[in-house]
Amino acid sequence: MTVFVAIGKDARRFNDSRSGSLDFDWLRLRDGEERRVMFLAGEEGFVTYLAHNSRSQNVTTHACLEPTGVACPSCSRKIARRQQTIILLWDIENEYILAWDVPEKHLKAVRNVITEHPNRFKDIAFNLKREGAGRFTSYRITPIPELTAKETAKAEQRKTASIPEPGRLIKYKKPEEIEKMLTSVLH
Ligand SMILES: [Zn+2]
Repeated sequence: MTVFVAIGKDARRFNDSRSGSLDFDWLRLRDGEERRVMFLAGEEGFVTYLAHNSRSQNVTTHACLEPTGVACPSCSRKIARRQQTIILLWDIENEYILAWDVPEKHLKAVRNVITEHPNRFKDIAFNLKREGAGRFTSYRITPIPELTAKETAKAEQRKTASIPEPGRLIKYKKPEEIEKMLTSVLH
């Protein structure tokens, strides 16, 4: 059973804490924050899933179960759904894999970078900056012309990192768990 609608493009782990058993962390940037990163894969490594979420109805983000063939309680109740893509990055400073859960509307910024540097984007370091908050959020991804010797050594470590399997990137709720959550917030 899988919630993935496409592997090659998804995700989010619905768990906010960095677990000791995981060899990656979720990228979280606040307005104005930035991180020096490198892409660990191109579009062939992107993983896409469908996420339900409705702030106005107090429904927290959770993966849609429709792709698993199981009736999805949130689809039945017509909770808003959008496509999310998980992109794996290397955090140069911290020498760590970051999983970036990107809503469809921000994917264009990533695709633009890949298009501009088709054969080299995995070899270039980028500064990834969040600008704005809420629905005014945007991401600026700009190449870093030159890394320091120390940064270059840290960036090289990405080549020995073990890439998490897509199935480890997302933790989804069972239908009864979703039903329980919906019942508790909806009238
Ligand atoms: Zn659904």
